[in-house]
Amino acid sequence: MSHRYTFETHLLHNKHKFDPATGGVSVPIHHSSTFHQSSVDKFGKYDYSRSLNPTREALEEIIAELEGGVRGFAFSSGMAAISTAFLLLSKGDHVVVTEDVYGGTYRMVTQVLNRFGIEHTFVDMTDLDAVEQAIRPNTALLYAETPSNPLLKVTDIHAISQIAKKHGAYTFVDNTFMTPYLQRPLELGADIVLHSATKFLSGHSDTVAGLAVVKDEELANRLYSLQNSFGAVLGVQDAWLVMRGIKTLSVRMNQSQESAKNIAGFLQEQPLIKNVFYPGLVNHPQADLQTQQAYGPGAVLSFELEDAEVLTRFIEQVKLPVFAVSLGAVESILSYPAKMSHAAMPLGERVRRGITDGLLRLSVGLESADDLILDFKQALKSIATIAVSKEEV
Ligand SMILES: *Cc1c(COP(=O)(O)O)cnc(C)c1O
Repeated sequence: MSHRYTFETHLLHNKHKFDPATGGVSVPIHHSSTFHQSSVDKFGKYDYSRSLNPTREALEEIIAELEGGVRGFAFSSGMAAISTAFLLLSKGDHVVVTEDVYGGTYRMVTQVLNRFGIEHTFVDMTDLDAVEQAIRPNTALLYAETPSNPLLKVTDIHAISQIAKKHGAYTFVDNTFMTPYLQRPLELGADIVLHSATKFLSGHSDTVAGLAVVKDEELANRLYSLQNSFGAVLGVQDAWLVMRGIKTLSVRMNQSQESAKNIAGFLQEQPLIKNVFYPGLVNHPQADLQTQQAYGPGAVLSFELEDAEVLTRFIEQVKLPVFAVSLGAVESILSYPAKMSHAAMPLGERVRRGITDGLLRLSVGLESADDLILDFKQALKSIATIAVSKEEV
């Protein structure tokens, strides 16, 4: 990234500020699957859109620049990006994976990669000794997600990358919750940064997309070959939507993050709430680490109610956030990890990881924090009333 400008300015003033052919200030959507070649022996830069398309390429260049990598890749979903990156592994390799990893990644590792002879060990990556102990002679990859989903545990990206390097393994970091505005894993030593661009990067709950950025040229060439071979590329309309979302990334993040801080503080004071998980709270176990490696705690938090019954009532009373899968959007989203993102995880595993039936995840959107807090207040009040009347009966 050019350091003459701040990150915020860079979101708008990059290589794709305007189209060199027309001066258009929005990247053209090239709806062409194939490209005319003007000579038999010398083909142009573009030949077929799975291999390279100018609209997708613009997004790939923008994300590479923002993450500080050599090359970016856009995929049809976050899972397509993650799965294609996993294809860098070979039969007999072993992966060490962060324990409360995204449910889809968990499924990929435990139900797909295992069939191709790729072994795995899950560890709590906040415990660096446990990470060291999980390493085997055939460990080829350390896979981290920080802050993690849904318990917002913070992994030391620099320390993990150092361990990986010592053992000749790669480090991949899922940076979906932070985005490059708040955290840049490649600068901390990671080899590949992965995104569900469905979330904060596009930001409007209107597209499904995935991105990968690579730090090293040779690894980038290998990932390019896999992107082209596997073929799960992002369509041009979606690439354009992600680029439009990226233009407002910093303002959306700032607003949502400020609200998240206020809401986390409010929730922590509520007697009906057992736990609040948010790296912006001073009592979060890795709050200092988060401050060291990222520019903020982000806009996602989770909190725990007594049990599934209380949680159900709470959801019935809350009016503002949508109750849905996903996060990182203009509207606040409440999700129920046990039945949504982590439904693929067996019950015992899930509860052992602290993803209980009373846990809700909140992705804070752009509504006024005061309105959101008032909404939660009224919902908690009505639960309290029900609880009291139950006792009186
Ligand atoms: C949503 C998500 C994914 C998967 O991305 P899709 O775009 O839904 O395929 C991966 N990691 C994290 C942290 C996510 O939140």
